[in-house]
Amino acid sequence: MAKLEVLQGDITKLETDAIVNAAKESLLGGGGVDGAIHRAAGPGLLAECRTLGGCPPGDAVSTAGYTLPCKRVIHTVGPVWRGGNAGEPALLASCYRKSLLIAQKEGLESIAFPNISTGVYGYPKAPAAEIAVLTVKTCLPDLPGIKRIVFVCFDRENLDLYRNLLADSP
Ligand code: ADP
Repeated sequence: MAKLEVLQGDITKLETDAIVNAAKESLLGGGGVDGAIHRAAGPGLLAECRTLGGCPPGDAVSTAGYTLPCKRVIHTVGPVWRGGNAGEPALLASCYRKSLLIAQKEGLESIAFPNISTGVYGYPKAPAAEIAVLTVKTCLPDLPGIKRIVFVCFDRENLDLYRNLLADSP
């Protein structure tokens, strides 16, 4: 079984095989973690993203890492929170699942996730963290190539939520 970790910090500094970007549908960069990843990766990332033609919510695509310390960036588009009855939980779960499937397919053994949708997209942090941890744990038995998952929390509230959820792990 893969190791699940939580840490507080900047995902662009991680040396995992893959880092996940909470991207916009256009894949052309934005604020928050998306902006930080594009700044740290350099212009090559945006150039590659332009060739991809966007990505719908709940889906994921990968690119090179350029000047980032990771090998690959997996871009996934989280749902915008619209009150919870517009399919947000299933779309958020799909972001984690599709990202893990790409990592497995590309032979990437370690992957770092930000707290997808919990910034500008407004997803409440507690249910988002529950979905993230539950989805990853549910998918991992079918993904033997993945050895390490890091949940990178930017703010203290998310850090506490993830610590509690992982402390309850079997
Ligand atoms: P979204 O549009 O999916 O909500 P945001 O980038 O606004 O994306 O926020 C997603 C999460 O990423 C938030 O919890 C935010 O605090 C966090 N975040 C912002 N910058 C970074 C960073 N450099 N490293 C890790 N997490 C970050």
